[in-house]
Amino acid sequence: MLDPVWLLVLLPLAAASGWLAGRRDRPNRSGRLSDKFSSEYFKGLNFLLNEQPDKAIEVFIKVLEVDTETVETHLMLGNLFRRRGEVERATRIHQNLIARPNLDRDQRSNALYELSQDYLKAGLLDRAENLLLEYAEVERKSESALEHLLYIYQQEKEWDQAISTARRLARASSTSTDEMIAHFYCEKAEEAINGNDLEEAGALLKQALSTDRNSVRATIMKGDIENRIGNSKKALQHWLKIEKLDSQYLPEVLERLKRGYSELGDRESWDGFLRRILQSEESIPVMLTLADEIESRYGPDNARKFITAELRKRPSMSGLAYLVRLTGMQATGQAQTDMQILQGMIDKAVHTRQGYVCQHCGFHARAMHWQCPSCKRWNTIKPVWDQVCD
Ligand SMILES: [Zn+2]
Repeated sequence: MLDPVWLLVLLPLAAASGWLAGRRDRPNRSGRLSDKFSSEYFKGLNFLLNEQPDKAIEVFIKVLEVDTETVETHLMLGNLFRRRGEVERATRIHQNLIARPNLDRDQRSNALYELSQDYLKAGLLDRAENLLLEYAEVERKSESALEHLLYIYQQEKEWDQAISTARRLARASSTSTDEMIAHFYCEKAEEAINGNDLEEAGALLKQALSTDRNSVRATIMKGDIENRIGNSKKALQHWLKIEKLDSQYLPEVLERLKRGYSELGDRESWDGFLRRILQSEESIPVMLTLADEIESRYGPDNARKFITAELRKRPSMSGLAYLVRLTGMQATGQAQTDMQILQGMIDKAVHTRQGYVCQHCGFHARAMHWQCPSCKRWNTIKPVWDQVCD
């Protein structure tokens, strides 16, 4: 049976060939040309009916080569195939179009762009990049080309090109790309850290922060570098800034802060910090960290009192899991076995409610990502507690 999509292809082709326009009634100068159109058109149709779509495409391309006014039909044909996932066919049509010497500037530019989209879809990023660079030179249309180039450079981890393209995009679209650029510098800094070049990493983080002075990631990384070179106090100062920059990321630095205060031998300040945060924010991870602190310093009974009072104020699955664990530790005999079973069940429920969620597209992750793997936005993934994640 003829694929319905071909009807969409055949109609404009028929129109282009003059067949639908009633060519026989028009005694015009293109009469002989239309005869040729028509016979080729039926030849193509025949291939289609015999389920030979590739031969049909060749014939239709040949038909359309006759007239530059059919460029739009070519583009439409190609796009149709790409949307259906038939990228090879789309590519063939767009390549054929570009090879024609008589296209005007706009037509050529459109064809370049469409071919770049075919290459992107096929994962041929290098080829797409070359076409998009050429396309971006046509200034008034550069925004979408720059967005695609930016996608390619991020995929390929070519951060220098990503930075310069993001700057061009900011100029072309009049929107800030500073947050994104700061992440690109952080990516470069990560590479420098992996290569043990902490000095270079420090310089890159400075650039990140001069681009986006509120960059949570760059601030955390600066603390990490200070900590790595043994400067605990400076490390702590950087990590403490996260509360003011964006307290939603605080859970990401709690372990670091604990380590920092412990290295400075200042458990009182650590305790005070956690209590202060808890007064102003309903933060489950801060509450759990404080419960840990109380348990290790003052024993399980005091931790139990604390967690019970907290659970009355703000019920949470994680708090309940903590209480069940403490109770299980003190139970004996059958009660202990029962508590262990209960703990296993609650831990499972807690596990599925913790994680990371993209605030833009709702993507769920088990680990922190600065760029959402799904929608590719930066800074949209945040830690969540006591929410359904799976
Ligand atoms: Zn997302």
